[in-house]
Amino acid sequence: MKMEKTFIVCDLETTGLDPGSDKIIEIGLVRLEEGEVTQQFHALVNPGQPLSIRIKRLTGLADDDLARALPIRQVLPDALDFIGGCAVAGHNIQHDLRFLGAARGQFLSNPAYDTLELARLVIPGLASYRLEKLCKVLNIGTAATHRALDDALCTGSLLNILIQKLKTMDLTVLTRLNILLGEARSGWHSFITGLIKERIKTFPVQKISTAPYWSGADIQEGQNAPVFGELRTGGEKKVVLAEKEVCSLAGKNSPLAGLLPGYEYRPQQEAMMREVTRSLNEEKFLLMEAGTGVGKSLAYLVPLILWGLANQERVLVATHTINLQEQLWSKDIPLLAGVINKPFRVALAKGRQNYICLRRWDAVLNSTHQPEEAAFYARVLTWLTATATGDRNELNMIPGDADHWLDLCGEAEGCLGQRCRYSRRCYVNKARKTAEEANLIIANHSLLLSDVRVENRLLPAFGPVVIDEAHHLEDAATAHLGRQFSQISVHRWLGLAGKYLAKVAENAPPGDGARWSIINKEAQKARLETSEALKHFFQLLWDLATDGASGGDGEYARISLRLPCTKSDYQELVDSGVRSAGFIRNFVEWLKDCAELIETWAVSEEVWAGTARDLQQIVKSGFDLADDLLFIIESRDREFAYWAELEKSRQGSFKKISLMAAPVNVGSLLFEKFFKTKKTVVLTSATLTVNGTFDYFMERTGLNHVSEERRILASYDSPFEYDRQALLCLSRDLPAQGEVIEQVYLDHLENTIYKLLQITGGRTLVLFTSHRVLRETYRRLKPRLEESDIFLLGHGLDGSRTKILEEFKSTERTVLFGSSSFWEGVDVPGEALSCVVMVKLPFMSPSVPVIEARLEDLARHERNGFRVFSVPQAVIRFKQGFGRLIRSGNDRGCVVVLDPRILDKSYGRYFLRSLPVKSHFRGGIDLIINKIADWIEVIPTVNTWQHIK
Ligand code: SF4
Repeated sequence: MKMEKTFIVCDLETTGLDPGSDKIIEIGLVRLEEGEVTQQFHALVNPGQPLSIRIKRLTGLADDDLARALPIRQVLPDALDFIGGCAVAGHNIQHDLRFLGAARGQFLSNPAYDTLELARLVIPGLASYRLEKLCKVLNIGTAATHRALDDALCTGSLLNILIQKLKTMDLTVLTRLNILLGEARSGWHSFITGLIKERIKTFPVQKISTAPYWSGADIQEGQNAPVFGELRTGGEKKVVLAEKEVCSLAGKNSPLAGLLPGYEYRPQQEAMMREVTRSLNEEKFLLMEAGTGVGKSLAYLVPLILWGLANQERVLVATHTINLQEQLWSKDIPLLAGVINKPFRVALAKGRQNYICLRRWDAVLNSTHQPEEAAFYARVLTWLTATATGDRNELNMIPGDADHWLDLCGEAEGCLGQRCRYSRRCYVNKARKTAEEANLIIANHSLLLSDVRVENRLLPAFGPVVIDEAHHLEDAATAHLGRQFSQISVHRWLGLAGKYLAKVAENAPPGDGARWSIINKEAQKARLETSEALKHFFQLLWDLATDGASGGDGEYARISLRLPCTKSDYQELVDSGVRSAGFIRNFVEWLKDCAELIETWAVSEEVWAGTARDLQQIVKSGFDLADDLLFIIESRDREFAYWAELEKSRQGSFKKISLMAAPVNVGSLLFEKFFKTKKTVVLTSATLTVNGTFDYFMERTGLNHVSEERRILASYDSPFEYDRQALLCLSRDLPAQGEVIEQVYLDHLENTIYKLLQITGGRTLVLFTSHRVLRETYRRLKPRLEESDIFLLGHGLDGSRTKILEEFKSTERTVLFGSSSFWEGVDVPGEALSCVVMVKLPFMSPSVPVIEARLEDLARHERNGFRVFSVPQAVIRFKQGFGRLIRSGNDRGCVVVLDPRILDKSYGRYFLRSLPVKSHFRGGIDLIINKIADWIEVIPTVNTWQHIK
């Protein structure tokens, strides 16, 4: 165990990420002795193949540069000589070692140190740990350039900084950290062991403290007292806001105008403010559609906050996306603090599961762990020394961490409340107190609907509500008012229960040893029986689903099986499900006995109170699991749709199996459980109307049950000049998918998109409705487009949504293929996005079980489901897709729709009427291309189209 003083810092550039098939193209090595660079090694490597456009753009290297270089077999011996037997360090060093190992034919056995791992440990809470981001955050002079030697030098500087941070870390934290890193089999374990020894040798009086090391102060009574008093109770006369006064804050010559750089007066925004004020004053439901660019968030926030302050009543805003929540929290609210001349408090409310529970953390820390768990807990440990909130959002989680987080989070069932010795420092309590003291709560649809589901036990009481991005309300309610039973959650529950049983097995409660031993033995036996029963059940479900299931799209095929089904062996599945639920319950009864005995023990030994509470939580979860399984597999409640969802890997094995139940008609539920209890609700979005009416939205969300005199309906056009800024083209060329054989359709699609991209020079978002078609078109077009220097990014093929969106925004001549989530929430102002192509009209597949059940329900009521449900749903999504194009007053571009149904079918007019453009161009793709070129030439624009040939 020694603290290395000399490192070889290594960085490689490669043709791709797979050491099995990709090649090294550049090697950069730096010898670092006592923190000083003493030697450098650099070599270009001829990979014997052309570089992809992505690598050329990333590194700036050209094929010619490498053609003159030596092949790896001639470069490698010198590089390996340079490395010798030294410790090797690098940013994600295992990646480089795998490539060196593949080139050498044998993995290097040198000690390896990863700066990425160390950065995550000693600088917790960053959003990104990419080398270039770290260089920026830490002011490392030489910026990372994606060239091997530059990046090796940057990594060397980074390594020095990180080691210095490690050296100044509190000895208690360092010691605990090192135990976890030992369990995680981290390369840093031996280094830190050496560091600890050196620290103790240098300062022998240092002791390892047992005091809490996490940050954040105790919760002080009376501190942060509420700005306003108790909530007023119903029946009291409300303070009415003067519309003029409200508008004076955000209209022309207003304080807001003074604070907003580039402020533009928008009459629509002022009109919205008046309407929100009216709905608050008159206690009404306001349905408000506002086009892009109106500034709707400020239009509802100003009257809402003023009304809450005047009436001493807490108000709430719920959004669907984190992006909008962040915009409200970090942009709009700070701005309004300078506009509204009164102090007000705002809280970002999140579910308890988002916060760490210090009691559970303590229990986790004092047990042993698997390597992956230990690596995650090591990051949690250092994060806890810095966080003031305990909010998991600050933790840079990597895949797999979410499962381990479940063992730490502050779920209600496991909370000891006042009996908890951590309650004064508890992050969950702090968050709750902040929400209770707030005038305005910002939440998401999910939390709001979970609160509705548990009868308002999650959020503090609130009065008027604004639901933004309200077009998602039906889907959010479907997800949160339904039930689920998944293979992952039941296995996790069995694992957790087994862990607790093993933990308590050795400790018999005083004076009750014999009974304890029987209970424990029986519980272990019942656990095994439950596990076997579930294994049999999931196997039956798998067999049933693979034979005649629907679906099969996406990187992993997803199969849905509607329940109940008519297959001959279905009853066997139901019997097996019922039996499994019985086994779960039997096991839970034994766990309950265990928990009760431990509780009696906890009376004299406080230390057992936490374990008893955790076991009770496991008992409650077990009963819930059994209830959910029975509810779904018996499928008795006619108000619900039931189905099984299976995700199959490309190799054919099943990754995930879930049973689901969702209410067929969420509208009635939403009305009964939520809207009926509210006086004022504002629902807003850029896409609420279809064919000029709110009828579809009202019916789907239950607002049609609100009396007409209590509803205000309002629509506000976007301030953008769509007829000047956007060109809508409808193609007649492409056959409808399904009308010709698949290969013919794909050939047409490939050639059409190719031609369009030649004229737009990339800068295009292509929206698909099928991931299979997206993948096939991507596979065909990628090499063809690279020949034209156009870079193609594919959803699910080139990285996460955030990553490819960032790359799309920042890289010239790029096209992005997106499906599902890309139809909305993509905000790329400027010329990086100058064309949107919609491959098909975005109808939901009628074979999606909940959609199928809703269509059946409408048919039962003698209604045309396609007309009153499928078309409006697709129109809303179509409007969202169209909305991706124009994001600012300076944007210009074109939208091309390739689905001929928009012209050929009678329902096509609903799609066209819902758009903010008055005219469109229709024709074959060659005519469309000419039109786009003419249109660009005729109308000069702020945004240049210089890439268009
Ligand atoms: S009060 Fe509850 S949530 Fe908070 S630390 Fe204690 S047990 Fe955990």
